[in-house]
Amino acid sequence: MTIIGLTLLELPIFAQKIFMSLLTVGSVAFDAIETPFGKTDKIVGGAGTYISLASSFFMQEQSIISVVGSDFPKETIQEMNSRGINTEGLQIKEGEKTFFWSGKYHNDMNSRDTLATELNVLEHFDPIVPDSYQASDYLMLGNLSPSVQSSVINRMHSRPKLIAMDTMNFWMDIALEDLKKTIKMVDILIVNDEEARQLTGEYALVTAAKAILDMGPKYIIIKKGEHGALLFSKDQIFFAPALPLAEVFDPTGAGDTFAGGFMGYLASTEDTSFENMKRAVIYGSAMASFCVEKFGTDRLLEIAQSDIDKRVKVFNDLSSFELKG
Ligand code: AMP
Repeated sequence: MTIIGLTLLELPIFAQKIFMSLLTVGSVAFDAIETPFGKTDKIVGGAGTYISLASSFFMQEQSIISVVGSDFPKETIQEMNSRGINTEGLQIKEGEKTFFWSGKYHNDMNSRDTLATELNVLEHFDPIVPDSYQASDYLMLGNLSPSVQSSVINRMHSRPKLIAMDTMNFWMDIALEDLKKTIKMVDILIVNDEEARQLTGEYALVTAAKAILDMGPKYIIIKKGEHGALLFSKDQIFFAPALPLAEVFDPTGAGDTFAGGFMGYLASTEDTSFENMKRAVIYGSAMASFCVEKFGTDRLLEIAQSDIDKRVKVFNDLSSFELKG
């Protein structure tokens, strides 16, 4: 597509916030987080929240499917709407409580213990796909039960152009067969290194990636926390570093924010080639690097487009070099 003589990829990313639509499915939650830097009471979190906030920087319009209780703050929903996130598919269950998760990070910030998971409204979540969402071209299935994830795919009148999916060990433990069926339906699986190992029984990530590609997806992204992320297709591999940060304040939601940045970039550029996925991995990594700088969604809510553009440049400089001769 050409706009006033410029190709899309030459335009600054904010000018591209106009094209394809992204639908996100994921938890909208209350979290209580403890890190070596401090502790929060119940704050707004949830995979769906992080994904859609991150992707809102790339899209003028997008939508979310989720469920909350009547205890969830209306201001947060308004904030989402003001960022172009359509919440028609966000069910509000009167008199019920929002999903609650609590976690405590170890000193290295790479591992955490889940202290509490109260499913509340998520326990019997039956996702509704409103008519206004049916034309979504890109679908991001955030970490939820694989049967909820697959029911959203099945409830779309036509298959989106690209479906990505996140999951976690929890579902491998209790719903492996359902999970494998859902994985078969998607184009991209996004997991961390431990999850890739558990899913396949393979330790080497290259072998684990191959085993996952054999399960159905065309692409697999393996996140390695502070050690970056790997993107695999059948015959190509790309590695993106994570930004070496002096201080990681709160890693909660970093994986979801990565997914939101990745899918937001892909949808906004309307290009699903491997070359463009490489760029999307960098945008996802840049968004995740902001997320960890403050508690919860605080940092994502204060950054501007110019911060993202600067950070992507830092990523570019981080690992580019010239071959001599
Ligand atoms: P991450 O740090 O990327 O693993 O994502 C953390 C977010 O996932 C938190 O905001 C939680 O509310 C949410 N979360 C944790 N466990 C679950 C679960 N079992 N189902 C859905 N969302 C969850």
